[in-house]
Amino acid sequence: MTDTPNQDIANRRARILAELAAAHDPAPELIAVSKSQSDEAIDAMLAAGQRVFGENRVQEAEKHWETRKDKYPGLTLHLIGPLQTNKAAEAVRLFDVIQTLDREKLADSLATAMEKEGRRPKLFIQVNTGEEEQKAGVSPSKVGDLLRYSREQARLEIVGLMCIPPVDEPAGPHFALLRKIAKDYGLPGLSMGMSGDYELAARYGATHVRVGTALFGSRD
Ligand SMILES: *Cc1c(COP(=O)(O)O)cnc(C)c1O
Repeated sequence: MTDTPNQDIANRRARILAELAAAHDPAPELIAVSKSQSDEAIDAMLAAGQRVFGENRVQEAEKHWETRKDKYPGLTLHLIGPLQTNKAAEAVRLFDVIQTLDREKLADSLATAMEKEGRRPKLFIQVNTGEEEQKAGVSPSKVGDLLRYSREQARLEIVGLMCIPPVDEPAGPHFALLRKIAKDYGLPGLSMGMSGDYELAARYGATHVRVGTALFGSRD
């Protein structure tokens, strides 16, 4: 039977939604991370009722979503991967939420792109809570500066913070740190938690969890 994979996807989604609802009230928004997924898997997720998706790369996201966007008017698309300034206009055109603002130059590019495109996606600042050398995100001590710059110089509205904890450390302290910084600056959004720790993130007050493999099965 060809509908078995679809049923698997629908079942996994239902289970994760139930786990999130049990972990925290209100439950965080489930973002289905569709990077590297097949068209069949994405269509199965849509058929299961999912309308909020996350992508890492602008180009792949265009391939996945440019036509589906017209077909499913209720979609919300989040950019969760690093953004180069020369892709800012494309990102602003496609995404409803950009979670990876992490430097002043990008704030300027996004502001220019929003003016040009006449669209204003919601913005999260990505915080490198583990202060990892190779990882994107602003260091925790610099969030205030970037927030001020984004608001006062670039005239952007920031709605929350996002983090990706180091893979080799317990995530809880990173979630707690992100929550504290968000609280200090009065930011309502908290994007944290992935396949391995979405329930934990929900208990720490995540407003958005970004789940790929646990929802779709493994990536191609
Ligand atoms: C890929 C990715 C995810 C989802 O990862 P899974 O472990 O497959 O759930 C979440 N957030 C970001 C930033 C990602 O790049």
